[in-house]
Amino acid sequence: MPIVITPGREEFSTRIFTDNCCKREVLNLLVYCKNSPCCDGKIPLGRYQEHLTQCAFESVQCTNEGCQDKMPRKDLKGHLEKECKLRLEICAHCNKVMASINLTVHIGSDCPKYPVPCPNNCSVTSPRAELGDHLAVCPEAELQCPFSNYGCHVKVRRAQMKEHEEKFVRDHMLYVLNCNSKLEKQVLQLWQNLELKEQQIQQLSETVKRWERDCTQFLVGTNGHPLSSTQALSCYIDKALGLEEQVAQLVQLVRKEQNHFDLGTILEVAESTKQRLSHMETYRDLLENLDCQFKKHDVELNNHRTLLSCNEERFRLLEGTSFNGKLIWKITDYEKKKQEAIEGRVVSLFSQHFYTSHYGYRMGARVYLNGDGSGKGAYLSLYVVVMKGEYDSLLAWPFKQKVTLMMLDQSGRKNHITDVFRADPHSSSFKRPDNEMNIASGCPRFVSHVQLENPKNACYIKDDTLFIKVTVDLTDLEEL
Ligand SMILES: [Zn+2]
Ligand SMILES: [Zn+2]
Ligand SMILES: [Zn+2]
Ligand SMILES: [Zn+2]
Ligand SMILES: [Zn+2]
Repeated sequence: MPIVITPGREEFSTRIFTDNCCKREVLNLLVYCKNSPCCDGKIPLGRYQEHLTQCAFESVQCTNEGCQDKMPRKDLKGHLEKECKLRLEICAHCNKVMASINLTVHIGSDCPKYPVPCPNNCSVTSPRAELGDHLAVCPEAELQCPFSNYGCHVKVRRAQMKEHEEKFVRDHMLYVLNCNSKLEKQVLQLWQNLELKEQQIQQLSETVKRWERDCTQFLVGTNGHPLSSTQALSCYIDKALGLEEQVAQLVQLVRKEQNHFDLGTILEVAESTKQRLSHMETYRDLLENLDCQFKKHDVELNNHRTLLSCNEERFRLLEGTSFNGKLIWKITDYEKKKQEAIEGRVVSLFSQHFYTSHYGYRMGARVYLNGDGSGKGAYLSLYVVVMKGEYDSLLAWPFKQKVTLMMLDQSGRKNHITDVFRADPHSSSFKRPDNEMNIASGCPRFVSHVQLENPKNACYIKDDTLFIKVTVDLTDLEEL
Protein backbone atom coordinates (compact mmCIF):
# COMPACT_ATOMS: atom_id res chain seq x y z
CA MET A 1 0.00 0.00 0.00
CA PRO A 2 1.63 3.30 -1.07
CA ILE A 3 1.91 5.90 1.67
CA VAL A 4 1.89 9.58 0.79
CA ILE A 5 3.84 11.99 2.96
CA THR A 6 3.03 15.64 2.61
CA PRO A 7 5.86 17.98 3.87
CA GLY A 8 5.45 21.74 4.45
CA ARG A 9 3.28 23.78 2.09
CA GLU A 10 6.23 25.87 0.98
CA GLU A 11 8.15 22.96 -0.65
CA PHE A 12 5.47 20.80 -2.24
CA SER A 13 6.81 17.47 -3.47
CA THR A 14 5.64 13.86 -3.44
CA ARG A 15 7.63 10.78 -2.51
CA ILE A 16 6.23 7.29 -2.81
CA PHE A 17 7.36 4.19 -0.90
CA THR A 18 6.40 0.62 -1.33
CA ASP A 19 5.38 -1.10 1.87
CA ASN A 20 6.60 -4.59 0.95
CA CYS A 21 5.33 -6.18 4.13
CA CYS A 22 1.81 -4.91 3.58
CA LYS A 23 1.96 -5.94 -0.11
CA ARG A 24 2.87 -9.49 0.83
CA GLU A 25 -0.06 -9.66 3.22
CA VAL A 26 -2.50 -8.43 0.60
CA LEU A 27 -1.17 -10.78 -2.07
CA ASN A 28 -1.68 -13.69 0.30
CA LEU A 29 -5.38 -12.87 0.80
CA LEU A 30 -7.60 -15.66 -0.58
CA VAL A 31 -10.08 -14.66 -3.31
CA TYR A 32 -12.84 -16.57 -5.19
CA CYS A 33 -12.29 -17.44 -8.89
CA LYS A 34 -14.46 -15.30 -11.21
CA ASN A 35 -15.85 -18.55 -12.67
CA SER A 36 -17.42 -19.56 -9.33
CA PRO A 37 -19.66 -21.26 -8.47
CA CYS A 38 -18.60 -23.62 -11.33
CA CYS A 39 -15.01 -23.28 -10.18
CA ASP A 40 -14.80 -23.62 -6.41
CA GLY A 41 -11.16 -22.60 -6.16
CA LYS A 42 -9.97 -20.04 -3.54
CA ILE A 43 -6.73 -18.59 -4.72
CA PRO A 44 -4.18 -16.23 -3.17
CA LEU A 45 -4.59 -12.86 -4.92
CA GLY A 46 -0.96 -12.99 -6.07
CA ARG A 47 -1.57 -16.19 -8.10
CA TYR A 48 -4.97 -15.22 -9.47
CA GLN A 49 -3.84 -14.50 -13.07
CA GLU A 50 -1.84 -17.72 -13.13
CA HIS A 51 -4.98 -19.62 -12.02
CA LEU A 52 -7.05 -18.12 -14.80
CA THR A 53 -4.60 -19.53 -17.41
CA GLN A 54 -5.36 -23.02 -16.07
CA CYS A 55 -8.94 -22.72 -14.72
CA ALA A 56 -11.10 -25.49 -16.23
CA PHE A 57 -14.10 -23.13 -16.40
CA GLU A 58 -12.39 -20.16 -18.00
CA SER A 59 -13.98 -19.43 -21.39
CA VAL A 60 -11.50 -19.99 -24.26
CA GLN A 61 -11.73 -19.76 -28.07
CA CYS A 62 -11.30 -22.84 -30.29
CA THR A 63 -7.67 -23.14 -31.40
CA ASN A 64 -8.57 -24.08 -34.99
CA GLU A 65 -7.95 -21.07 -37.19
CA GLY A 66 -11.28 -19.76 -38.52
CA CYS A 67 -13.48 -21.33 -35.81
CA GLN A 68 -15.11 -18.66 -33.62
CA ASP A 69 -16.63 -21.10 -31.05
CA LYS A 70 -16.01 -20.36 -27.31
CA MET A 71 -16.30 -22.85 -24.46
CA PRO A 72 -15.01 -23.62 -20.94
CA ARG A 73 -11.40 -24.84 -21.11
CA LYS A 74 -12.43 -28.32 -19.89
CA ASP A 75 -14.60 -28.81 -23.02
CA LEU A 76 -11.95 -27.71 -25.56
CA LYS A 77 -10.45 -31.16 -26.02
CA GLY A 78 -13.85 -32.72 -26.78
CA HIS A 79 -14.72 -29.87 -29.14
CA LEU A 80 -11.49 -30.27 -31.08
CA GLU A 81 -11.95 -34.01 -31.33
CA LYS A 82 -15.65 -34.35 -31.98
CA GLU A 83 -17.52 -31.10 -32.56
CA CYS A 84 -15.37 -28.49 -34.30
CA LYS A 85 -16.60 -28.13 -37.88
CA LEU A 86 -13.01 -27.32 -38.93
CA ARG A 87 -11.42 -30.40 -37.39
CA LEU A 88 -9.50 -32.54 -39.91
CA GLU A 89 -11.04 -35.85 -40.86
CA ILE A 90 -9.98 -38.63 -43.26
CA CYS A 91 -12.39 -39.76 -45.99
CA ALA A 92 -12.98 -43.46 -45.27
CA HIS A 93 -13.20 -44.17 -49.02
CA CYS A 94 -10.27 -42.34 -50.57
CA ASN A 95 -8.18 -41.42 -47.48
CA LYS A 96 -8.12 -37.76 -48.41
CA VAL A 97 -7.75 -35.42 -45.39
CA MET A 98 -10.15 -32.43 -45.20
CA ALA A 99 -12.14 -30.20 -42.83
CA SER A 100 -15.11 -32.03 -41.33
CA ILE A 101 -17.53 -29.46 -42.73
CA ASN A 102 -16.50 -30.40 -46.32
CA LEU A 103 -16.72 -34.18 -45.88
CA THR A 104 -20.44 -34.52 -46.64
CA VAL A 105 -20.18 -32.63 -49.91
CA HIS A 106 -17.03 -34.61 -50.81
CA ILE A 107 -18.76 -37.95 -50.27
CA GLY A 108 -21.97 -36.76 -51.90
CA SER A 109 -20.45 -35.61 -55.19
CA ASP A 110 -16.63 -35.58 -55.36
CA CYS A 111 -15.08 -38.68 -53.77
CA PRO A 112 -13.74 -40.81 -56.67
CA LYS A 113 -13.81 -44.01 -54.55
CA TYR A 114 -17.31 -43.65 -53.10
CA PRO A 115 -19.44 -46.56 -54.31
CA VAL A 116 -22.40 -45.44 -56.40
CA PRO A 117 -25.10 -47.63 -57.96
CA CYS A 118 -25.31 -47.91 -61.79
CA PRO A 119 -27.91 -45.39 -63.07
CA ASN A 120 -29.25 -48.09 -65.39
CA ASN A 121 -30.32 -50.14 -62.31
CA CYS A 122 -28.26 -53.15 -63.29
CA SER A 123 -27.39 -54.01 -59.65
CA VAL A 124 -23.73 -53.14 -60.11
CA THR A 125 -22.20 -50.67 -57.65
CA SER A 126 -18.88 -49.20 -58.66
CA PRO A 127 -16.48 -46.49 -57.38
CA ARG A 128 -17.61 -43.12 -58.75
CA ALA A 129 -14.49 -42.67 -60.92
CA GLU A 130 -14.97 -46.07 -62.57
CA LEU A 131 -18.65 -45.67 -63.37
CA GLY A 132 -17.81 -44.54 -66.94
CA ASP A 133 -15.95 -47.83 -67.59
CA HIS A 134 -18.89 -49.79 -66.34
CA LEU A 135 -21.40 -47.83 -68.44
CA ALA A 136 -19.36 -48.77 -71.55
CA VAL A 137 -20.20 -52.45 -70.89
CA CYS A 138 -23.38 -52.23 -68.78
CA PRO A 139 -25.87 -54.81 -70.08
CA GLU A 140 -28.75 -52.49 -69.18
CA ALA A 141 -27.42 -49.49 -71.16
CA GLU A 142 -29.64 -48.44 -74.06
CA LEU A 143 -27.92 -48.46 -77.44
CA GLN A 144 -28.89 -47.36 -80.89
CA CYS A 145 -29.31 -50.26 -83.33
CA PRO A 146 -26.15 -50.42 -85.53
CA PHE A 147 -28.47 -50.23 -88.55
CA SER A 148 -29.77 -46.82 -87.49
CA ASN A 149 -27.94 -45.28 -90.45
CA TYR A 150 -30.10 -47.42 -92.70
CA GLY A 151 -33.39 -46.58 -90.97
CA CYS A 152 -33.76 -48.86 -87.90
CA HIS A 153 -34.23 -46.27 -85.15
CA VAL A 154 -34.96 -48.77 -82.37
CA LYS A 155 -33.09 -48.40 -79.05
CA VAL A 156 -32.19 -51.69 -77.41
CA ARG A 157 -30.53 -52.64 -74.10
CA ARG A 158 -26.99 -53.93 -74.69
CA ALA A 159 -27.88 -57.40 -73.38
CA GLN A 160 -30.74 -57.64 -75.87
CA MET A 161 -28.82 -56.32 -78.89
CA LYS A 162 -27.85 -59.73 -80.27
CA GLU A 163 -31.43 -60.93 -79.95
CA HIS A 164 -32.68 -57.79 -81.73
CA GLU A 165 -30.20 -58.26 -84.54
CA GLU A 166 -31.19 -61.90 -84.98
CA LYS A 167 -34.90 -61.20 -84.83
CA PHE A 168 -34.79 -58.30 -87.27
CA VAL A 169 -32.34 -59.69 -89.83
CA ARG A 170 -35.01 -59.49 -92.51
CA ASP A 171 -35.94 -55.90 -91.64
CA HIS A 172 -32.30 -54.87 -91.53
CA MET A 173 -31.71 -56.49 -94.92
CA LEU A 174 -34.69 -54.58 -96.34
CA TYR A 175 -33.34 -51.31 -94.90
CA VAL A 176 -29.93 -51.94 -96.44
CA LEU A 177 -31.54 -52.99 -99.72
CA ASN A 178 -33.60 -49.84 -99.78
CA CYS A 179 -30.51 -47.75 -99.12
CA ASN A 180 -28.63 -49.59 -101.85
CA SER A 181 -31.25 -48.96 -104.47
CA LYS A 182 -31.29 -45.28 -103.50
CA LEU A 183 -27.51 -45.22 -103.91
CA GLU A 184 -27.80 -46.91 -107.28
CA LYS A 185 -30.27 -44.27 -108.38
CA GLN A 186 -27.90 -41.55 -107.20
CA VAL A 187 -25.01 -43.09 -109.11
CA LEU A 188 -27.17 -43.25 -112.24
CA GLN A 189 -28.16 -39.62 -111.77
CA LEU A 190 -24.50 -38.69 -111.35
CA TRP A 191 -23.60 -40.48 -114.55
CA GLN A 192 -26.33 -38.60 -116.38
CA ASN A 193 -25.16 -35.30 -114.93
CA LEU A 194 -21.65 -36.14 -115.96
CA GLU A 195 -22.69 -36.84 -119.55
CA LEU A 196 -24.63 -33.58 -119.65
CA LYS A 197 -21.61 -31.70 -118.32
CA GLU A 198 -19.36 -33.34 -120.89
CA GLN A 199 -21.72 -32.25 -123.67
CA GLN A 200 -21.72 -28.71 -122.32
CA ILE A 201 -17.94 -28.66 -122.16
CA GLN A 202 -17.79 -29.97 -125.72
CA GLN A 203 -20.12 -27.20 -126.87
CA LEU A 204 -18.18 -24.57 -124.97
CA SER A 205 -14.86 -25.69 -126.35
CA GLU A 206 -16.31 -25.60 -129.89
CA THR A 207 -17.57 -22.06 -129.32
CA VAL A 208 -14.18 -21.03 -128.00
CA LYS A 209 -12.46 -22.64 -130.99
CA ARG A 210 -14.77 -20.78 -133.39
CA TRP A 211 -14.01 -17.49 -131.69
CA GLU A 212 -10.33 -18.26 -131.77
CA ARG A 213 -10.58 -18.82 -135.53
CA ASP A 214 -12.53 -15.56 -135.99
CA CYS A 215 -10.04 -13.60 -133.96
CA THR A 216 -7.02 -15.07 -135.75
CA GLN A 217 -8.52 -14.27 -139.15
CA PHE A 218 -9.20 -10.74 -138.07
CA LEU A 219 -5.80 -10.23 -136.54
CA VAL A 220 -3.48 -11.79 -139.13
CA GLY A 221 -0.85 -9.20 -140.11
CA THR A 222 0.84 -8.71 -143.48
CA ASN A 223 3.53 -11.28 -142.68
CA GLY A 224 0.90 -13.95 -141.89
CA HIS A 225 1.40 -13.92 -138.07
CA PRO A 226 -1.43 -13.02 -135.73
CA LEU A 227 -1.14 -9.52 -134.28
CA SER A 228 -2.48 -8.19 -131.03
CA SER A 229 -5.68 -6.13 -131.31
CA THR A 230 -3.96 -2.78 -130.68
CA GLN A 231 -1.20 -3.62 -133.15
CA ALA A 232 -3.79 -4.47 -135.80
CA LEU A 233 -5.74 -1.29 -135.19
CA SER A 234 -2.71 0.96 -135.31
CA CYS A 235 -1.66 -0.78 -138.51
CA TYR A 236 -5.02 0.02 -140.11
CA ILE A 237 -4.94 3.59 -138.85
CA ASP A 238 -1.47 4.02 -140.37
CA LYS A 239 -2.76 2.69 -143.68
CA ALA A 240 -5.76 5.03 -143.55
CA LEU A 241 -3.55 8.04 -142.75
CA GLY A 242 -1.36 7.17 -145.73
CA LEU A 243 -4.43 7.01 -147.95
CA GLU A 244 -5.70 10.37 -146.67
CA GLU A 245 -2.35 11.94 -147.47
CA GLN A 246 -2.48 10.50 -150.96
CA VAL A 247 -5.98 11.90 -151.44
CA ALA A 248 -4.90 15.35 -150.25
CA GLN A 249 -2.01 15.28 -152.73
CA LEU A 250 -4.38 14.23 -155.48
CA VAL A 251 -6.81 17.06 -154.64
CA GLN A 252 -3.96 19.55 -154.87
CA LEU A 253 -2.92 18.09 -158.19
CA VAL A 254 -6.48 18.29 -159.43
CA ARG A 255 -6.76 21.92 -158.44
CA LYS A 256 -3.66 22.65 -160.50
CA GLU A 257 -4.78 20.75 -163.52
CA GLN A 258 -8.55 20.79 -163.24
CA ASN A 259 -9.14 19.97 -166.83
CA HIS A 260 -7.20 16.74 -166.88
CA PHE A 261 -8.90 14.87 -164.06
CA ASP A 262 -12.37 13.76 -163.07
CA LEU A 263 -12.73 15.31 -159.60
CA GLY A 264 -15.93 13.31 -158.81
CA THR A 265 -14.15 9.94 -158.77
CA ILE A 266 -11.42 11.20 -156.45
CA LEU A 267 -13.95 12.62 -154.02
CA GLU A 268 -15.74 9.28 -153.98
CA VAL A 269 -12.51 7.46 -153.12
CA ALA A 270 -11.87 9.91 -150.30
CA GLU A 271 -15.37 9.42 -148.93
CA SER A 272 -15.12 5.62 -148.95
CA THR A 273 -11.73 5.80 -147.24
CA LYS A 274 -13.24 7.92 -144.49
CA GLN A 275 -16.05 5.41 -144.00
CA ARG A 276 -13.58 2.55 -143.77
CA LEU A 277 -11.69 4.48 -141.12
CA SER A 278 -14.75 4.96 -138.89
CA HIS A 279 -15.61 1.29 -139.45
CA MET A 280 -12.17 0.36 -138.06
CA GLU A 281 -12.85 2.37 -134.91
CA THR A 282 -15.89 0.24 -134.12
CA TYR A 283 -13.69 -2.89 -134.15
CA ARG A 284 -11.87 -1.67 -131.04
CA ASP A 285 -14.99 -2.15 -128.86
CA LEU A 286 -15.74 -5.47 -130.46
CA LEU A 287 -12.23 -6.72 -129.70
CA GLU A 288 -12.41 -5.70 -126.06
CA ASN A 289 -15.76 -7.41 -125.72
CA LEU A 290 -14.39 -10.60 -127.26
CA ASP A 291 -11.38 -10.50 -124.95
CA CYS A 292 -13.66 -10.31 -121.92
CA GLN A 293 -15.88 -13.20 -123.04
CA PHE A 294 -12.81 -15.26 -123.80
CA LYS A 295 -11.61 -14.94 -120.21
CA LYS A 296 -15.04 -15.80 -118.78
CA HIS A 297 -15.25 -19.00 -120.80
CA ASP A 298 -11.74 -19.95 -119.80
CA VAL A 299 -12.73 -19.78 -116.11
CA GLU A 300 -15.87 -21.82 -116.74
CA LEU A 301 -13.94 -24.43 -118.64
CA ASN A 302 -11.52 -24.83 -115.74
CA ASN A 303 -14.39 -25.21 -113.26
CA HIS A 304 -15.85 -28.00 -115.33
CA ARG A 305 -12.48 -29.73 -115.57
CA THR A 306 -12.11 -29.71 -111.75
CA LEU A 307 -15.64 -31.07 -111.29
CA LEU A 308 -14.99 -33.81 -113.81
CA SER A 309 -11.80 -35.04 -112.15
CA CYS A 310 -13.55 -34.93 -108.74
CA ASN A 311 -16.37 -37.13 -110.06
CA GLU A 312 -13.89 -39.49 -111.71
CA GLU A 313 -12.11 -39.95 -108.35
CA ARG A 314 -15.43 -40.79 -106.64
CA PHE A 315 -16.38 -43.35 -109.26
CA ARG A 316 -12.92 -44.90 -109.09
CA LEU A 317 -13.36 -45.41 -105.32
CA LEU A 318 -16.93 -46.72 -105.69
CA GLU A 319 -15.94 -49.20 -108.38
CA GLY A 320 -12.71 -50.35 -106.70
CA THR A 321 -14.08 -51.36 -103.28
CA SER A 322 -14.33 -55.12 -102.75
CA PHE A 323 -16.22 -56.93 -99.98
CA ASN A 324 -14.70 -60.41 -100.14
CA GLY A 325 -11.37 -59.91 -98.33
CA LYS A 326 -9.50 -59.61 -101.63
CA LEU A 327 -7.70 -56.58 -103.00
CA ILE A 328 -6.25 -56.33 -106.50
CA TRP A 329 -4.23 -53.14 -106.60
CA LYS A 330 -3.03 -51.79 -109.94
CA ILE A 331 -0.05 -49.43 -109.74
CA THR A 332 0.68 -47.57 -112.96
CA ASP A 333 3.69 -45.35 -113.85
CA TYR A 334 6.04 -47.53 -111.78
CA GLU A 335 9.27 -45.81 -112.96
CA LYS A 336 8.00 -42.31 -112.18
CA LYS A 337 6.58 -43.30 -108.77
CA LYS A 338 9.74 -45.18 -107.79
CA GLN A 339 11.82 -42.13 -108.70
CA GLU A 340 9.54 -39.98 -106.53
CA ALA A 341 10.10 -42.42 -103.64
CA ILE A 342 13.91 -42.33 -104.12
CA GLU A 343 13.84 -38.53 -104.05
CA GLY A 344 11.72 -38.66 -100.89
CA ARG A 345 8.79 -36.74 -102.38
CA VAL A 346 6.15 -39.51 -102.17
CA VAL A 347 7.73 -42.40 -100.23
CA SER A 348 4.65 -44.61 -99.91
CA LEU A 349 1.42 -45.28 -101.81
CA PHE A 350 -1.87 -46.28 -100.27
CA SER A 351 -4.38 -48.60 -101.97
CA GLN A 352 -8.14 -48.24 -102.22
CA HIS A 353 -9.69 -49.83 -99.12
CA PHE A 354 -11.53 -53.16 -99.07
CA TYR A 355 -13.68 -55.19 -96.66
CA THR A 356 -13.54 -58.82 -95.50
CA SER A 357 -17.34 -58.86 -95.98
CA HIS A 358 -20.14 -56.33 -96.31
CA TYR A 359 -20.04 -55.68 -92.57
CA GLY A 360 -16.49 -56.92 -91.98
CA TYR A 361 -13.06 -55.46 -91.27
CA ARG A 362 -12.06 -52.42 -93.34
CA MET A 363 -8.50 -52.71 -94.63
CA GLY A 364 -5.98 -51.29 -97.05
CA ALA A 365 -2.46 -51.91 -98.34
CA ARG A 366 0.60 -49.67 -98.32
CA VAL A 367 3.62 -50.00 -100.56
CA TYR A 368 7.08 -48.35 -100.35
CA LEU A 369 8.46 -48.63 -103.89
CA ASN A 370 11.97 -47.74 -102.67
CA GLY A 371 11.66 -49.83 -99.49
CA ASP A 372 11.13 -48.99 -95.86
CA GLY A 373 13.12 -49.85 -92.71
CA SER A 374 15.46 -52.81 -93.34
CA GLY A 375 14.37 -52.90 -97.01
CA LYS A 376 15.15 -49.26 -97.75
CA GLY A 377 16.99 -48.64 -101.05
CA ALA A 378 17.02 -52.20 -102.38
CA TYR A 379 13.56 -53.69 -101.77
CA LEU A 380 9.91 -53.02 -102.32
CA SER A 381 8.14 -53.10 -98.91
CA LEU A 382 4.51 -54.23 -98.69
CA TYR A 383 2.21 -53.87 -95.68
CA VAL A 384 -1.43 -54.30 -94.77
CA VAL A 385 -3.31 -51.76 -92.66
CA VAL A 386 -6.37 -52.29 -90.47
CA MET A 387 -8.61 -49.22 -90.81
CA LYS A 388 -11.44 -47.85 -88.73
CA GLY A 389 -14.72 -49.29 -90.11
CA GLU A 390 -18.42 -48.78 -89.52
CA TYR A 391 -18.99 -52.20 -87.95
CA ASP A 392 -15.90 -52.42 -85.72
CA SER A 393 -17.99 -52.60 -82.55
CA LEU A 394 -19.58 -55.84 -83.80
CA LEU A 395 -16.33 -57.55 -84.82
CA ALA A 396 -13.86 -59.71 -82.86
CA TRP A 397 -10.66 -57.94 -81.78
CA PRO A 398 -7.75 -58.12 -82.13
CA PHE A 399 -7.81 -58.99 -85.82
CA LYS A 400 -6.11 -62.39 -86.12
CA GLN A 401 -6.70 -63.65 -89.69
CA LYS A 402 -4.07 -65.08 -92.00
CA VAL A 403 -3.04 -62.59 -94.69
CA THR A 404 -1.45 -63.44 -98.07
CA LEU A 405 0.55 -60.77 -99.92
CA MET A 406 1.27 -61.35 -103.63
CA MET A 407 3.06 -59.66 -106.49
CA LEU A 408 1.26 -61.00 -109.55
CA ASP A 409 3.16 -62.47 -112.50
CA GLN A 410 1.83 -60.93 -115.74
CA SER A 411 3.59 -63.42 -118.04
CA GLY A 412 0.90 -66.08 -117.62
CA ARG A 413 3.36 -68.52 -115.98
CA LYS A 414 1.86 -67.85 -112.54
CA ASN A 415 5.22 -67.38 -110.83
CA HIS A 416 3.69 -64.99 -108.33
CA ILE A 417 5.79 -63.76 -105.40
CA THR A 418 3.91 -64.75 -102.25
CA ASP A 419 4.29 -64.12 -98.54
CA VAL A 420 1.86 -65.37 -95.91
CA PHE A 421 1.64 -64.25 -92.31
CA ARG A 422 -0.83 -64.56 -89.49
CA ALA A 423 -1.72 -61.33 -87.69
CA ASP A 424 0.02 -61.17 -84.30
CA PRO A 425 -2.78 -60.53 -81.77
CA HIS A 426 -0.32 -58.77 -79.43
CA SER A 427 0.75 -56.19 -82.04
CA SER A 428 -0.89 -52.77 -81.85
CA SER A 429 -1.33 -53.05 -85.64
CA PHE A 430 -4.24 -55.45 -85.13
CA LYS A 431 -6.09 -53.95 -82.17
CA ARG A 432 -9.38 -52.17 -82.77
CA PRO A 433 -8.37 -48.88 -84.47
CA ASP A 434 -8.72 -45.69 -82.42
CA ASN A 435 -7.73 -43.48 -85.30
CA GLU A 436 -8.44 -43.61 -89.04
CA MET A 437 -5.97 -46.47 -89.39
CA ASN A 438 -3.54 -48.61 -87.35
CA ILE A 439 0.21 -48.83 -87.93
CA ALA A 440 0.91 -50.85 -91.10
CA SER A 441 2.36 -54.34 -90.69
CA GLY A 442 3.86 -56.71 -93.23
CA CYS A 443 7.10 -57.35 -95.14
CA PRO A 444 9.76 -54.61 -95.37
CA ARG A 445 11.75 -56.95 -97.69
CA PHE A 446 8.84 -58.26 -99.74
CA VAL A 447 10.76 -58.32 -103.03
CA SER A 448 14.17 -56.94 -104.03
CA HIS A 449 14.39 -54.43 -106.87
CA VAL A 450 16.61 -56.92 -108.75
CA GLN A 451 14.03 -59.71 -108.60
CA LEU A 452 11.14 -57.33 -109.33
CA GLU A 453 12.68 -55.58 -112.33
CA ASN A 454 14.73 -58.45 -113.90
CA PRO A 455 12.93 -61.68 -112.97
CA LYS A 456 13.62 -65.12 -114.45
CA ASN A 457 10.57 -66.89 -115.92
CA ALA A 458 8.15 -64.17 -114.85
CA CYS A 459 7.11 -60.60 -115.61
CA TYR A 460 6.04 -58.34 -112.76
CA ILE A 461 6.21 -54.98 -114.50
CA LYS A 462 4.45 -54.74 -117.84
CA ASP A 463 3.68 -51.42 -119.55
CA ASP A 464 5.21 -49.72 -116.47
CA THR A 465 2.39 -51.24 -114.38
CA LEU A 466 2.40 -53.79 -111.55
CA PHE A 467 -0.39 -55.67 -109.76
CA ILE A 468 -0.44 -56.40 -106.03
CA LYS A 469 -2.92 -58.83 -104.52
CA VAL A 470 -3.86 -59.03 -100.83
CA THR A 471 -6.03 -61.90 -99.60
CA VAL A 472 -7.43 -62.24 -96.08
CA ASP A 473 -8.22 -65.82 -95.05
CA LEU A 474 -11.90 -65.77 -94.11
CA THR A 475 -12.04 -69.25 -92.50
CA ASP A 476 -13.33 -69.12 -88.88
CA LEU A 477 -14.58 -65.61 -89.50
CA GLU A 478 -18.10 -65.22 -88.16
CA GLU A 479 -20.36 -63.61 -90.78
CA LEU A 480 -22.50 -60.86 -89.24
ZN1 LIG B 1 -11.31 -21.19 -11.77
ZN1 LIG C 1 -13.79 -25.28 -33.24
ZN1 LIG D 1 -13.17 -39.60 -50.45
ZN1 LIG E 1 -25.07 -51.02 -65.10
ZN1 LIG F 1 -32.43 -52.69 -85.66
